[in-house]
Amino acid sequence: MRQFTYLRPSTSKAAIDALSKDPNAQFIAGGTNLIDLMKKGVMAPEKLVDINNLPLKEIKKQTGNLHIGALALNSDVSENKLVTQYHPLLSLALKAGASAQLRNMATVGGNMLQRTRCFYFYEPSLPCNKREPGSGCGALEGVNRMHAIFGWSDKCIAVHPSDMAIAMVALDASVLVYGPKGNRRIPFQDFHRLPGDTPEKDNSLEKGELVMGVEIPDGPFTKNVHYLKVRDRASYAFALVSVAAALNISGKTIKDARLAMGGVAHKPWRLLDAEKALIGKPATEETFKQAADIAMRGAKGFKYNSFKIPMGKNAILDALKTAAAKV
Ligand code: SF4
Repeated sequence: MRQFTYLRPSTSKAAIDALSKDPNAQFIAGGTNLIDLMKKGVMAPEKLVDINNLPLKEIKKQTGNLHIGALALNSDVSENKLVTQYHPLLSLALKAGASAQLRNMATVGGNMLQRTRCFYFYEPSLPCNKREPGSGCGALEGVNRMHAIFGWSDKCIAVHPSDMAIAMVALDASVLVYGPKGNRRIPFQDFHRLPGDTPEKDNSLEKGELVMGVEIPDGPFTKNVHYLKVRDRASYAFALVSVAAALNISGKTIKDARLAMGGVAHKPWRLLDAEKALIGKPATEETFKQAADIAMRGAKGFKYNSFKIPMGKNAILDALKTAAAKV
């Protein structure tokens, strides 16, 4: 067994100091991903900085936005009255994730920081540029059924596994971060990265930075929303493709629209061109089909995952129809 030290600081400052001083330290909260990674030998931190004593659980309405602390549990957020009232899309996405037991442990901060579930990443005897830069990508010519169809590189074709993050991107959320250089705010859309030549880096956090919470701006997407997750079994499975759809419909016209996909890229995949194609149009199947066609332009699959392209198109159409039908 590998030895590691364990600290439980009671202030954010002490937490980031503890992490910044040690290149092999990791924050831990719910531990639902990190413990698996440690057991499998994928990650081997020498120090764990447990942040559960920090006061980061609050969910509160502020002027212009909803604030959710990084330690709020996925289950609590999904059932919270402010969330279901102002951002029901987020509630639906959270409930689609993992299992009830995991949602009771997993935090909002941990959810966005969870790592890909690419099989090669989890098996240290196989090549993986994300786990060991320069070792190659086993999935490129291997079993790539779960992998990306957008934004991949020849170094990595993994997908980001979170459902919550797909809704956050669709809702234009921001990530609040505190670190050695102070506070900063990162648009959720820019928080996760594409793999490029450095797939070992999942997100734009700098060393020692701690996710303190998220803020979701008020918006009109309180009724006609849907999160559709297509997966191999009905529960406790990652998305083959997922769609977060939000419409603001007045009369029969779409006044505003948000669309993002999961299971298709190294980061939540916002579909801005498809959104533009929806705005100002009648909320009809024809409009939704056009948007779905636009959304999937540029998708390129591999030997075992090209089915995601027609599946994605159908999922977008289905999600938009379901969202529009809500009264
Ligand atoms: Fe590793 Fe990415 Fe290739 Fe998977 S897709 S084997 S995570 S480099």
